[in-house]
Amino acid sequence: MLCPNCQFSAASNSNFCPACGTKMIQSISFSCHQCNTVIPSSSNFCPHCGAKV
Ligand SMILES: [Zn+2]
Ligand SMILES: [Zn+2]
Repeated sequence: MLCPNCQFSAASNSNFCPACGTKMIQSISFSCHQCNTVIPSSSNFCPHCGAKV
């Protein structure tokens, strides 16, 4: 996963960025604008309704 502060590519289970110490947000997720399903940030389409996110 990428550090939101310095874009360092840290291990996916990191809680803090090893490069700058920023707290990593483990699951940057958001809600589908159509069905409000919580979608992982890596998704391009809603897994529930198929809407493009
Ligand atoms: Zn960082
Ligand atoms: Zn949806």
